[in-house]
Amino acid sequence: MPIEPLTPHQIIFAHPIDEAPYNLLRYVGTDQGGTHLYAVHDLSGKQVKPHAGAYEALKLAQGISPAQCWYCPPETPLPEHHRDHVIPRAHDGRNELHNLVIACPAHNTSKRELSIMDCHPYAGRRYMEALHAHISRVAKANAIPL
Ligand SMILES: [Zn+2]
Repeated sequence: MPIEPLTPHQIIFAHPIDEAPYNLLRYVGTDQGGTHLYAVHDLSGKQVKPHAGAYEALKLAQGISPAQCWYCPPETPLPEHHRDHVIPRAHDGRNELHNLVIACPAHNTSKRELSIMDCHPYAGRRYMEALHAHISRVAKANAIPL
């Protein structure tokens, strides 16, 4: 099933990490409280859930395409269904999609209120590189020169 071209909002509100399961989510709008909602797609592009908040949507996508813990070395076995807030909730980090990464239980528990840069500088650098690539995609999609 072909995937329809992304709208500007879908590009802007996509997860900075442009790989499955993060890119199985498509921004669909906000609910009455202003929470961003995402549709969840499978690997063929078929929609499997029309809308969910970012945290639930990423959990569903991880069930479709399990991913490595963002903090673990690459060869580590795939983690259970945990997500971590890049900016901790204790520091006003929200359940926005861009603020969530998949984490193994050990890393999710050990990071707690620490920032990604304080706790895992290498993972923080990788996240910043993904964010830079995301901004480049948004600028390109909107014909904004960088
Ligand atoms: Zn881990």
